[in-house]
Amino acid sequence: MTSLHQPAPRYDLLQAPLIGRLLRWRWGRLVGQLLLLAVALLMLFDGFTGPKLAPTNIATVVTWVHYRGFVMFALLLVGNLFCMSCPFTLPRTLAKRLSGNGRRWPRRLRNKWIAITVLLLFFWLYEWLDLWASPLLTAWIILAYFVAAFVLEAFFAESPFCKYVCPLGTFNFVSSTISPLQISVRSQDTCHTCVGKECVNGSTAVLGCGTELFAPQIKSNLDCTLCLDCARACPHDNVALAWRNPLAEVSRADTWPRRWDVNLLILIFAFTGVGNAFGMVPPVYQLEAWLMGVLQTNNEGLILLLVFGVLDLLLPVGLGVVAAWGSRKLSQNHESLRLNVARYAPAFAPLAFAIWFAHYAGFHFLTGALAIIPVLQNFLLDVGISWFGQPNWALGPLLPMSWIDPFELLALLVGTAASLHVVGERARLVRDEFAAQLPWIFLLLVLAVSALVIMYLPMEMRGVG
Ligand code: SF4
Ligand code: SF4
Repeated sequence: MTSLHQPAPRYDLLQAPLIGRLLRWRWGRLVGQLLLLAVALLMLFDGFTGPKLAPTNIATVVTWVHYRGFVMFALLLVGNLFCMSCPFTLPRTLAKRLSGNGRRWPRRLRNKWIAITVLLLFFWLYEWLDLWASPLLTAWIILAYFVAAFVLEAFFAESPFCKYVCPLGTFNFVSSTISPLQISVRSQDTCHTCVGKECVNGSTAVLGCGTELFAPQIKSNLDCTLCLDCARACPHDNVALAWRNPLAEVSRADTWPRRWDVNLLILIFAFTGVGNAFGMVPPVYQLEAWLMGVLQTNNEGLILLLVFGVLDLLLPVGLGVVAAWGSRKLSQNHESLRLNVARYAPAFAPLAFAIWFAHYAGFHFLTGALAIIPVLQNFLLDVGISWFGQPNWALGPLLPMSWIDPFELLALLVGTAASLHVVGERARLVRDEFAAQLPWIFLLLVLAVSALVIMYLPMEMRGVG
């Protein structure tokens, strides 16, 4: 147990009059999951049987425009709401029955390396197979998610799919480190005398924490699916969903393990934000054509592997290590490269989130949110319901297009300022001089300017007409 005398959280969403009861309600999560399951089934149906043109199909429009936009807004304003209502883990109870308690996930795999690999693989396949343009492939991905979650749940305890594999979960975990809500406890003393520790162990009636987090020791949103099983399981009603300063987690030294996998994940998450946006602007096609000429090949998969291997993996790892090396040289703290990366990499979380937010929420969602209306009208017409009229395919933008650039600029400026602030906070913890911060500040600014330049280039709409 950490400290026994931490103050009780001042603002606890679980104590709020109506929403608190709803969140703690035994079936609350299941209702959310069933709603998303209904949406997923609709997407599967239209993906497999509906129109082949992506902007007219529910599977592609919901996945590549709405899901990504809603997730970004939810993460910014509340937290990891998607994982809370994730339909892919619905078969968990059935899977657990098949496996008993399940085996332990192998010790050597209890880290983020598989998640990083799957995330990078996903971004490469997204570009190579034009996933956003194919309702059929999108439907197959959704189906593969259900199967993968079920199989891993059936064989292993500790929800390894969510914690160690799922690329969506990984994306949401990292983003939620700057979300304003976090699981906490009202009284550490109550936990100290608690015998059953049901929040993590579960009880006969309710499952404990799937990812095996122990509520009184939680300092980070990493690995928390916000499922609230801990709150439902605690017999002392001692779990809180506390409001916090969104920069608190990334500013403190003791919140994340100082491991290569966790901290490189943050850097990779930041660079893939830029890489993903770069994949949608004209220079990427010029670069591809040039590489095809130089390498004398038409193999697009190989070329994209090269482009995104450099952007999404080589640059974050290489530049992160170079920044840490420079920081060590300029510092009085002669710590290892790993510790220097662990000191400063978390500061990239706000900027990384801002890049993804500007891109997914600012560009794709705000320019395409209303496209769902004609898509649904079209679907209803196909199944013989004409009450809602003929689709107006011109619907799309939620805001005037002239507002999008300032929106993205604002997001990037706020993210950059927040990250610079966190660099200073983290340096202060060990009294690192300003010189030692400079390589990391330089890398942050390079990333922010690259994101800004790319966002201001003409970008493919992807998913909408
Ligand atoms: S079950 Fe409740 S009281 Fe017991 S350790 Fe967990 S949060 Fe604390
Ligand atoms: S700590 Fe565990 S049980 Fe509680 S909300 Fe997070 S993932 Fe769910």
